[in-house]
Amino acid sequence: MDPQLLLPPGAGLVVEQVQLCDEIVHLMVRCEASGAHCPKCGAWSEAFHGSYERNLGDLPIAGRQAVIDLRVRRFRCYWPECPRKTFVEQAPILAERYAHRTRRLRSLLEEIGLALGGRPGSRHCQRLAIPTSRTTLLRKVRGLPERPSATPSVLGVDEFAFRKGRRYGTILVDGAAHRIVDLLEDRSADALVEWLDNHPGVRVICRDRAGVYASAARRGAPDAQQVADRWHLVHNLADALERFAVRVLASLRKELKAEAIVDATPRLDLPPPASPGRLMARTEQRHAEIHELMTRGLTITAISRRLRLERKTVRRYATAEVAADLLGARGHRDTALDSYLPYLAKRWQDGQHVAACLFDEIKKRGYRGSKRTVRRQLAGWRTAEPPPPAHVMLPGPRTLAWLLLRRPSDLDEKEHVLLRQLYERSAELGRARQLAQDFLRLVRERPVASWTNGSPTCTRWVRQNYVASAAISNMTGMRSTPGSPSAGVRAAWKGM
Ligand SMILES: [Zn+2]
Repeated sequence: MDPQLLLPPGAGLVVEQVQLCDEIVHLMVRCEASGAHCPKCGAWSEAFHGSYERNLGDLPIAGRQAVIDLRVRRFRCYWPECPRKTFVEQAPILAERYAHRTRRLRSLLEEIGLALGGRPGSRHCQRLAIPTSRTTLLRKVRGLPERPSATPSVLGVDEFAFRKGRRYGTILVDGAAHRIVDLLEDRSADALVEWLDNHPGVRVICRDRAGVYASAARRGAPDAQQVADRWHLVHNLADALERFAVRVLASLRKELKAEAIVDATPRLDLPPPASPGRLMARTEQRHAEIHELMTRGLTITAISRRLRLERKTVRRYATAEVAADLLGARGHRDTALDSYLPYLAKRWQDGQHVAACLFDEIKKRGYRGSKRTVRRQLAGWRTAEPPPPAHVMLPGPRTLAWLLLRRPSDLDEKEHVLLRQLYERSAELGRARQLAQDFLRLVRERPVASWTNGSPTCTRWVRQNYVASAAISNMTGMRSTPGSPSAGVRAAWKGM
C-alpha cells in the first residue's frame, strides 16, 4: 500500500518512512514544497535556517496508536521591510499551528467527548488506542463554538437541580423542536427576564405552577401567552383529587363506622399503651445490667462498648436510681407525642385514621417526633377495636386519588371491585372519576389542531371537557400548591 494514502489528500506532505516503535506507529513526514511564504509579509523564501520535528497525535492505524513525526523547516525572510527574520513552514490541512494533534484526531475527540463525556469517553479512547485524559476531552468540548440558536416561539421554562435540594437553575426548552435552548445559573425571575429581554420574539411560555416564572414572563415578554404544560396540569389534577379523596373518605368512614358498630368506640381518652409490661421488664433488666457493670468498675464508655449502646443512653441509666425513674408516670416512656394525644384522639373520632395525614396535622401544631411513633400509636388504636370494621379497609386518600387517575384498562379486578363498592356509597366519587378521566383524555389526546381548525364537534368536545375540569376544580377547591409530585402523577404522565 502507498503510505501516502495515510495522509489527508492535498496536504502537500510526503511520507518518508513508516516505523513501528513500542507498539506505536510513527509516520515520518516532511513538506513537499522547496520553500514557504512568510506569514507576515507573504514573500516566498527558500533560505533554509534550520529544522525540527513536530510530534502530532493521529488517528490509530490498524488498532495501534499512531503519531505523525512532521519535520518542519525554518526559513529566513529576506524582505527588507518585514519585521520577521525567520518563520516556520506550516501544514494547515494536517494540523493547526502549535497543535499537538492532527485536525482529524481533534474532531474525533470532540465527538467522543460530546457523546460520552469525560470519564467514559476517556475509557472508550483507551480501547480505541487513543490515550486521552478525561480533562482533555472536557476541554475539547468546552472549546467548541456555541451553536447559534434562534429564539423559539414556544419556550418551555422549568427549574432543574445542579444539586438536589441545594442549588437550582432554570432550563429553557424549545417547545417545538424539543431541544434545550439555554441553561440559566439560578431560578430567579431576574435571570429569566434578562434572557427574555435579549431574546425577543417568544410567543408562548410554557411554565410550571410557581409564581416566579409567571412574574418573570409578564415582565420579560408581556405579549407572550402563558400556559401550563401537560405534566403540571396532571399534577394539579392529582393534588385536587387527593384533597377531594380526604374529604370523601372521612365521610365514608363515619358512615361505615356508624353502620358497623355502635358500641365499639375505642377508649380514646386513655389510649392503651403499647404493652407496658414488656417495656418495663426490659428497662429493669438493662438498668440492673448497667449498674452491675458499674460496681465492677467499668467506665461509661466501656459499658457502652460492651452493651453496644450509645454513651448517652448508658449515662441516662447510670444516673437513674431505680428503673422506674426512666419511665413516665403511666409506665411507658414519655414521648414527644404525649401532648398531642388528645388532639389525635379527637381526630380519630372524627374519622381521620390515616397516619400520614394525622402526622402532617400535628406536625403543623409543633410536633417534633417521628412519623413512626405516630404509626405505632395508631396501630395500637386500630388493634384495640374489635373485629376490623369495614372503614379500616378503605384505601388512603393518595391511593384513592391514584385509582381515580389511572386508565380503567390499567386497573386489576380487585381495584375495579373496590371502586364499584365506593361508587355505590358515594355518587360524588363516580362523578369525580368521570371528570378526571375526561380531563386526562383531553390532556393526552390534545385535539388542539382540529380545535383551532374550528371543527364544531371538536370544539364542543373541548368545551365539555374544559367545563369538566373547571367542575372538578370547584368540587375540590383546587388551588395550585407547590410540592413534590406523587408517584401517581408520574405514572399517569408516563402513560401519555
Ligand atoms: Zn516576511
